[in-house]
Amino acid sequence: MPSYNYYCPNCEKIVPAIHPYRERLAQCPECQQAGVQFIFPAPTIHTASTWAAGRGSLADQLPPIQLRTTLMGAARHGFKPGRNMVYDPGLALKQGDPEAFIPADEGESYVKKLLRKRGMGCEELGIEARPPLPKKRVKLAPDLVEEHYRNYTRRDPALKDKPKREVCEMITEKHGSTIT
Ligand SMILES: [Zn+2]
Repeated sequence: MPSYNYYCPNCEKIVPAIHPYRERLAQCPECQQAGVQFIFPAPTIHTASTWAAGRGSLADQLPPIQLRTTLMGAARHGFKPGRNMVYDPGLALKQGDPEAFIPADEGESYVKKLLRKRGMGCEELGIEARPPLPKKRVKLAPDLVEEHYRNYTRRDPALKDKPKREVCEMITEKHGSTIT
């Protein structure tokens, strides 16, 4: 089974875990806290000399249906790949991700640059993963909830007929924010 890395915001370190590809850890194996973040593994990358060899045009690399959805995805992002580019599905964060189209003449150096930019590690290329920034959920302070509640009910007096707790929950949901 493959090995994956997780970032635990509680331990503040990267912890390895072994499990099937489709599964995800729910908690940190060391401190048992929930909220570990999966670190996407870097794609398999070959050495510079063999990197683009034998890949051919995009039409050679992908089966027709996948080629079509990939090009449609790229078009949605306003990108039209050159026909001799190399598409690496392992680098794609979304269907037809423009960044996953690699200029054939840049090969490995392009991939290195991209992995650094994304903070992804690749042992083969000697790049270390950067831990993702922990997300902090900021809870709205009670006095702010009160203030919003007053504004909301002034604008829409019908809200006063609803249970206050319900309205406050809606306000917290809407105005509490996630910062990174
Ligand atoms: Zn932990």
